[in-house]
Amino acid sequence: MKTGEKIGIMGGTFNPIHNGHLILAQTAYDQLHLDKVLFIPSGNSYMKRNVLNVCQRIEMVRLAIRQYPYFELSLIEAQRLGNTYTYETLEELTILNPNAKYYFIMGADSLFQIEQWRYSQRIYQLSTLVCAIRQEYHLESIKRQGALLVQKGADILYLDIQKIEISSTDIRKKVKEKLPISEYVPIEVANYIRQEHLYDEEN
Ligand code: ATP
Ligand code: MG
Repeated sequence: MKTGEKIGIMGGTFNPIHNGHLILAQTAYDQLHLDKVLFIPSGNSYMKRNVLNVCQRIEMVRLAIRQYPYFELSLIEAQRLGNTYTYETLEELTILNPNAKYYFIMGADSLFQIEQWRYSQRIYQLSTLVCAIRQEYHLESIKRQGALLVQKGADILYLDIQKIEISSTDIRKKVKEKLPISEYVPIEVANYIRQEHLYDEEN
């Protein structure tokens, strides 16, 4: 592996992956001059119940990113038994590639939750947090929260990005209501959701 690689980490439930995730990863890739971005679907989430099975979430990520040579699917969390913790993922990645610099990409909602995650201090040690605004948060409150985390040892970068008004929750709702989703997800993902009858009933 190359030394000193700059690797973005785009973790998520991806239930389903959507254009917001792709725009976020692409913006981080461009603005931070990353070498690549790893898409890491969560395995069993201890925070979210009733999530679609991991194989289907993985398949949608695979379909969504296959056009992008610098986006890579990582099964590091999906393969782990039991709960997945971000700090463990970062520890494993650091062992695999000790010279890489990791950038943990996330939306503002995660910035407000990260203190509740297991061993968040370890996450701050092993990565730079990369934060994008999200529609329900104001820039000032994001910066205030960021400053608080910096006091606790985090290193945070902010992406210059427009708000992207998409969430997986909205998409699941639209599918259930038989509304079109083609403007929110790549076409391959929309087709897969239709073929597999995903989200017909609330998952
Ligand atoms: P759900 O509605 O099921 O929670 P989600 O759209 O929030 O899904 P996740 O898989 O939970 O998607 O999110 C993974 C990461 O992507 C999180 O850090 C989240 O903040 C970020 N993210 C998702 N959608 C957006 C968006 N529209 N703008 C900015 N960040 C986003
Ligand atoms: Mg979410």
